[in-house]
Amino acid sequence: MSPTAANSVSVPSRRYDLHTHSLCSDGTLAPADLVARAHAAGVEVLALTDHDVTDGLAEARVAAECLGMTLVAGVEISVSWHGQTLHIVGLNIDVADASLQQGLARLREFRQWRAEEIGRRLAKKRIEGAYAGARRLAKGTIVSRTHFARFLTEQGFVRSPQHAFKQFLSSGKPGHVPGQWATLEEAVRWVRVGGGQAVIAHPARYKLSSGKLQRLLGEFRECGGEAIEVISGSHAPEANRHFAGLAKEQNFFASAGSDYHGPEKTWMDLGKLPALPEGCIPVWRDWEVKNTFKPQICADERRFVMGAG
Ligand code: AMP
Ligand code: MN
Ligand code: MN
Ligand code: MN
Repeated sequence: MSPTAANSVSVPSRRYDLHTHSLCSDGTLAPADLVARAHAAGVEVLALTDHDVTDGLAEARVAAECLGMTLVAGVEISVSWHGQTLHIVGLNIDVADASLQQGLARLREFRQWRAEEIGRRLAKKRIEGAYAGARRLAKGTIVSRTHFARFLTEQGFVRSPQHAFKQFLSSGKPGHVPGQWATLEEAVRWVRVGGGQAVIAHPARYKLSSGKLQRLLGEFRECGGEAIEVISGSHAPEANRHFAGLAKEQNFFASAGSDYHGPEKTWMDLGKLPALPEGCIPVWRDWEVKNTFKPQICADERRFVMGAG
């Protein structure tokens, strides 16, 4: 359902971060440690949105319950759209849904082949052992370009992961392999099938012309997409304002997420997100936020979460 301005007010002033990663994809913290850190930073509602995988959600949920915070089941789905890679964040997904899990499994299969292919392409540039190196640095099931970037930095081929993307891993560079990800329609369908909401992640990062952006918003809405990530840790403040304006004009819900990947702070730290601009209708407006605090059940898990004992 599209938001309407009439009921845009009286949004609870909780602190939301609806886009984060754990080591189940290309973040560096275990899900429980991510949750503990978000809690310490004042986040009250956190979505874990790993790339193409939901493995971290069970651990994150236990950790969140122990700390009395709300964990939103999320995922960041890789999409190929007119030759370009886009990311669709799913919020409140049904992790048990077979179509979602089969879809994500297909994307992970492509990811695995792509990782090996990146390794072969880098070998042609006299960089040996890149696949094995990236696989070693990946702590979960998926291998991402981020792991290659860390490998290239560790081995001294580049100064930083950002340089690894610039020189080797971005589109048109020697280690780049074009994506064969989900269609936009598939990604939105997998999110919505269990009652979830689909969000266009960090829209400013795609650098779309205004015509192409309008086309994306139109197709996204037609598929059932409802929200735009207006506030992103990887956006400049002007981009936040620009996409807030678009969301308001075109009646999309607005989401906010740091895209946190770990204390190395590639994008933004936890708990630092600015508020949604005036007039935006938060994607969480109709969510029922439950108090999930169950201290008696969690006594043991709390020790586990805090890493003590
Ligand atoms: P993949 O899904 O394996 O293609 O990897 C995409 C991930 O690489 C993104 O989610 C970011 O975490 C990371 N990434 C993409 N571009 C850059 C960049 N220029 N600098 C640092 N990290 C990047
Ligand atoms: Mn990432
Ligand atoms: Mn992304
Ligand atoms: Mn992300």
